[in-house]
Amino acid sequence: MSQTSDEAAVAAHYGMLLGIQSPWQVKRAKLEVAQRLVDIEVEHDSRQPVRCPQCRRECPRHDHAPERTWRHLDVMQFTTQIRARLPRCTCPEHKVVTVTPPWAEPGSRFTLMFEAFAVQVLRACASLTQAVELLRLDWDSVQRIMDRAVQRGLTRRSTEAVTQVGLDEKSFGRGQDYVSLMTDLQGRRVLEVVADRTTEAALALWKSLPEEQRKQVQAASMDMGANFAAATAQAAPAAKIVHDHFHVSKQLNDAVDKVRREEHRRLLAKGDESLKHTKFLWLQGAAVDGDRALAFAELCARELKTAKAWAYKEMFVEFWLQPDAIAAQRFFEDWYRTVNRSRLEPLKKAARTLANHLVGLLNYFEHRITNAVTEGFNSRIQAIKTAARGFRRFQNYRTRILFFCGKLDLVPAMHSVVSH
Ligand SMILES: [Zn+2]
Repeated sequence: MSQTSDEAAVAAHYGMLLGIQSPWQVKRAKLEVAQRLVDIEVEHDSRQPVRCPQCRRECPRHDHAPERTWRHLDVMQFTTQIRARLPRCTCPEHKVVTVTPPWAEPGSRFTLMFEAFAVQVLRACASLTQAVELLRLDWDSVQRIMDRAVQRGLTRRSTEAVTQVGLDEKSFGRGQDYVSLMTDLQGRRVLEVVADRTTEAALALWKSLPEEQRKQVQAASMDMGANFAAATAQAAPAAKIVHDHFHVSKQLNDAVDKVRREEHRRLLAKGDESLKHTKFLWLQGAAVDGDRALAFAELCARELKTAKAWAYKEMFVEFWLQPDAIAAQRFFEDWYRTVNRSRLEPLKKAARTLANHLVGLLNYFEHRITNAVTEGFNSRIQAIKTAARGFRRFQNYRTRILFFCGKLDLVPAMHSVVSH
């Protein structure tokens, strides 16, 4: 079939637009107005050699794979697609293999330029729904673009500078599902996400760093649970365990709340409702203001057990303000003795937990790290969690966290189209 000179000119124009070079050429570009489609047919010059995509060896041509299409960037609201039958070659080592086209990654239904654009759209959008609409794609396709982008980013990522990490858990979905995260505290990025919060899960997190680099990690911030500590001792024995502020205050807050609930029950039995709706008052600590400050002062003035428990909790804030580990240890011992003399069982229990983790608490004065970085990702992760759906739920969730919080280099490289 012969082309008119106009058709040849249009084909050459699209070839230039797409950066298509020998041995590839645009055979035909067709405008389908009814379908709002620009259809570009590309072929491989049969006189040019074919190279094995794996070893780059020049190989005899075998045949052509069935025709495939790739979506490209829209032109004036017209969907643009590339259509081609990729040659297959017979490599002595890799047998019959399909040649990789220069405009797409293997297995992708999109051109590199489209994927690069999609990554930018996804980054800029407030929600995934918005991105899905703007890109005029379905959820699965968007998810696959993100999967590939994250895979690309992880391959390119360097973790050489990681010396301080945070281990943390997040709830996932309804019920008791959890995921565990490892963050690079200085680089302020999420390094890995795994299902569950067991020791095995924490080991899997550590394995996201090559062994040589695990040895360089000096400190790891974490809760006071056994799993993260056990995995750290095993996978990165040189890393100092530092217990995170947030988890310590949570422990103490829970103890205060336990005291409050018991006391509230006792007071209610006598018709006294003073402690009703005060849970958050005691969580806030000394920083309450306005009317509530007055109510709070009144509660504190009465010899309530809850007020005492609260005072012990508040006292502990000063632990973190000590100048060094020696002073902190002295402070802790005083505080522990004071709490232990009280008759507040929940507080005493919390104090024992802290005493059992004293080494990890004192390590703070050497490394001064917390999981605040992970906390900083909370709102983003919350939004991702709400949007995570489909039956690959955990995998999708992981991909999205790494996409948005991993600081990865996600955009495909637009390699120049030289002989492939
Ligand atoms: Zn080969």
